[in-house]
Amino acid sequence: MDFNYSEKSLDLQKRLHKFFEEHIYPNEQAYDLEIEESGNSLHIPQILDKLKDLAKAEGLWNLFLPDIEYGAGLTNVEYAPLAEITGKVWWAPEVFNCSAPDTGNMEVLYDFGTEEQKEEWLKPLLEGSIRSCFAMTEPDVASSDATNISSSIVSKGDNYIINGRKWWTSNAINPRAKICIFMGVTNPENAPHQRQSQILVPMDTEGISILRPMQVYGYDDGYTGHPELLFENVVIPKKNIIGGEGLGFKIAQARLGPGRIHHCMRAIGMAERALELMINRSLSREAFGKQLADQGVIQEWIAKSRIKIEEARLLTLKTAWLIDTYGKEEAKIEISSIKVTVVEAASYVIDKAIQTHGAMGLSQDTPLAKMAAGARVLRIADGPDEVHLRSIARREINKHR
Ligand SMILES: Cc1cc2nc3c(=O)[nH]c(=O)nc-3n(C[C@H](O)[C@H](O)[C@H](O)COP(=O)(O)OP(=O)(O)OC[C@H]3O[C@@H](n4cnc5c(N)ncnc54)[C@H](O)[C@@H]3O)c2cc1C
Repeated sequence: MDFNYSEKSLDLQKRLHKFFEEHIYPNEQAYDLEIEESGNSLHIPQILDKLKDLAKAEGLWNLFLPDIEYGAGLTNVEYAPLAEITGKVWWAPEVFNCSAPDTGNMEVLYDFGTEEQKEEWLKPLLEGSIRSCFAMTEPDVASSDATNISSSIVSKGDNYIINGRKWWTSNAINPRAKICIFMGVTNPENAPHQRQSQILVPMDTEGISILRPMQVYGYDDGYTGHPELLFENVVIPKKNIIGGEGLGFKIAQARLGPGRIHHCMRAIGMAERALELMINRSLSREAFGKQLADQGVIQEWIAKSRIKIEEARLLTLKTAWLIDTYGKEEAKIEISSIKVTVVEAASYVIDKAIQTHGAMGLSQDTPLAKMAAGARVLRIADGPDEVHLRSIARREINKHR
């Protein structure tokens, strides 16, 4: 492994850091305040759009997409440190058009979409003029096993008729989310991994209702939230199928490789920010006659946090390098490993940062409480830890069978 970043990545890192110092951190509270003052939790702050325009003008846009024509043309290793920087403020990735689930959806369209689908949906997504959602998880089945997904996509003439109930469809509540990638069963007679398909469903199609927003530890995540949805006799033209019937499972797997590097590096960014906050707080408070920074226990938390972050980052960069060099297939153990270990590391650091802040750490006065909820989500979303551990164990055991 080469531990040096390319000139291109280093230059973008410098520019992103500058952008954060000049535009993101100074507006961190203004963003929340604007939503609060609007009295509407779904309000999209104007500051977000202003910052998006600025980022686009500065060429800090679509950094995630490796294609030079559509995106920034970066490898996973080159993009990883950029994703880390964007993770320091939870809403910042969208400023650079690098937020989930749009990035995964754009990758799916880029890899599997027809020219017509790319023209109609990928282009506006890349421009940032619309947003999207991904509807796989269902309330009625254990959705960590994608073969359980049971919404129906039934062929009728030139159309499919879609029926099903979904939940945790992030962004579906966003008025700008114009397109949904929906997963359901087209071929119940096939082998389990070839029964499902993914299809493009415009969100203004008749028969789609938002039943309720879901909350995460009391946060509803506003316009980026994760509602429960009902699809009732939704009629979609056959040309909207992605890749062909029966490819749903394969596409769901494909979106997980680079996407996981993005999630993990953003979580490492969150952990770095939490460590920074922990140290600054410990330098500014005194208890029992000395600075918190001079208390042995707090020094141990700081030291352990640094070790955990470095371990997590190194493994994630190794995974990015493996994907770039040998492809996703050769990085399966690492892709699962980082999902588990990075979140453990980030959760540790965030928890200790909260403890160092005392009661304030639990409140709205620092980003730490929201970070703690975000890190907890990552142990379930994008595949629960147990599923990844099972997959690592199986691959390790198989080496010796
Ligand atoms: C904030 C948030 C955003 C989300 N966004 C989206 C989205 O945009 N689109 C979308 O489709 N979904 C989304 N999800 C849903 C998420 O991907 C699912 O919750 C996840 O895949 C788990 O599915 P499930 O909830 O049905 O849990 P289940 O499948 O019911 O699993 C429950 C538990 O069973 C255990 N378990 C499962 N399998 C195994 C195993 N093999 N071995 C041991 N134990 C096991 C695990 O502990 C697991 O947590 C989101 C979730 C959250 C919280």
